[in-house]
Amino acid sequence: MIINLSEIMSVKGNIEHIQAPIELESFCMEGIEYPFASKSFVDLTISHLGDRKVKIEGEAKLSLLIPCNRCLEKVETWFDLKILQNLDFKQGSDDRIEELDETNYINGYDLDVDLLVYNEILIDFPMKVLCDEDCKGICKVCGTNLNKSSCNCDNTVSDPRMSVIRDIFNNFKEV
Ligand SMILES: [Zn+2]
Ligand SMILES: [Zn+2]
Repeated sequence: MIINLSEIMSVKGNIEHIQAPIELESFCMEGIEYPFASKSFVDLTISHLGDRKVKIEGEAKLSLLIPCNRCLEKVETWFDLKILQNLDFKQGSDDRIEELDETNYINGYDLDVDLLVYNEILIDFPMKVLCDEDCKGICKVCGTNLNKSSCNCDNTVSDPRMSVIRDIFNNFKEV
């Protein structure tokens, strides 16, 4: 959703509450797509503090399906976004032009709510997601999810440290 800020900025002290829908279908990062499991509206409060300064406060609750770091099962991961941004639209200031250039969710006087939300998810995105602290992961040989069933693979074979020891052992035999 795009919100045009010029009307809010026309009167000093203007405060507007907006429930903006999140129109993003998924969250994409580094070529990987994470679908939303649920998403709320973004509760936005936009205040014109005067002197073309605008404060944007917002809250949103949403969840994404992120694969478990060990077994790759999708885990519903919640985000409690708290947005607080101060914008300065004062004309003729080089600083503000530079600053707003870095603010990718502002284009002219248009506020792009989805980009604002995207930035906040990016900041909060977890380094690692586990379906369970005790997740057993997947078998490195056959790919079985070891939380759901077991397999008869000899996992020591795929361990490179073990194969080094085996090579040494074999070399001894050849001598
Ligand atoms: Zn897992
Ligand atoms: Zn296996």
